[in-house]
Amino acid sequence: MDRQIHRQRAWKRAGLALLVGMALAAAMASFGAGWFAMLPLVAMVWGAGIALHRAGAVPVIVYHSISPDAGWLPWSQNTSVRPEVFERHMTVLARMGWTVLSREAFQGARARGLRLPAKSVMIHFDDGYLDNWVAAVPILRKYGAPATIFVSSDFIDASQSRRPTIDETPTDWRGYMNAAELRALDADPLIEIACHGADHARVAVSSDIVDTLSEANWRQHAPLFWNNSEDKSRWFEATEPALPYGNLVRQNDSALTSPSWTEAGIETKAVFEARVRASLIRARHLLKDVLGRDIDFLCWPYDRVTNASALIAREVGFETLTGGRGENREGEDPCLLSRTHINDFAAGPGSLWVEELVFRAKLGVAAGHYWWMPVTALARRRRARFLPSPKGPGA
Ligand SMILES: [Zn+2]
Repeated sequence: MDRQIHRQRAWKRAGLALLVGMALAAAMASFGAGWFAMLPLVAMVWGAGIALHRAGAVPVIVYHSISPDAGWLPWSQNTSVRPEVFERHMTVLARMGWTVLSREAFQGARARGLRLPAKSVMIHFDDGYLDNWVAAVPILRKYGAPATIFVSSDFIDASQSRRPTIDETPTDWRGYMNAAELRALDADPLIEIACHGADHARVAVSSDIVDTLSEANWRQHAPLFWNNSEDKSRWFEATEPALPYGNLVRQNDSALTSPSWTEAGIETKAVFEARVRASLIRARHLLKDVLGRDIDFLCWPYDRVTNASALIAREVGFETLTGGRGENREGEDPCLLSRTHINDFAAGPGSLWVEELVFRAKLGVAAGHYWWMPVTALARRRRARFLPSPKGPGA
């Protein structure tokens, strides 16, 4: 069942328990029960606490870029985390006794019906940024935390030149990992490289106009035309868009989950499915060429998925998919992972202490401790006030 429904129901039950507690306390007080009138209230607060905890959820926390300088990414505000904040998150996991599981460990335990540690978590990175190699992996190794890194095959950097390593301070944090780096990480038992589609593209889905291409906004809309770039992994070096300024930006969505709109009409179901199938097969083959092994784990770009696309993905050999709407509990499909996005400045500008608190709250909610939800809601509201979401699709 959808996690939002579980969470709403839990809060309704907790609210009801508190109301009953208050009503009983008021009734007992009116009969002169004195301090004893507090007993039902205390009991119902305890009951509300029980209603707001549903054990057994396994959070999958999702990062993208880990960088002190991610300004080259137009959507960095929502997808980049400073290394010191990421490290703080890892210290929280270590200090609070969380077990970080690899995908393999999680699915192995589920397949054998084994009980997982109460505080189990998985870590994902989307997009395959160079900064994962430079900054994230050294921190993961320091804490012995396994993770899966999802790579879009068209964005694998073509360079073979010497690149920054953990022992150097890089001068350029921009771009994506190259094949040698991906192979080196895939050989590390802590890291799994998996598929994030081939082109991470978006397509127009209707004639509705959402923006007009300008000097100020074209980078935000880059996913609409980065298929026109010669070397997609260096798309950010372009000084102007592949389409002329003034071009209308139509309502758009992930190319892997939406039939494409053109002036001639909407793609038919058969054409759409053939396009998605071809794209996923290409992604799988390209990544196999780089890593020398079959890839069976797909993470949907933009976290967008439909039943039709999921069916095609399974047909072409992806056994594990992201895009679930549950909480990775026993009884849910262990090959359909539900994820929680982690961002920086989680409550707007604040100290590392605030980042830690909001991280603990997000982790808590994802693990089934719904009483953390007021903290995550407040953080979200404060963040939206200080960091209004930029236009554009994100990553
Ligand atoms: Zn992505």
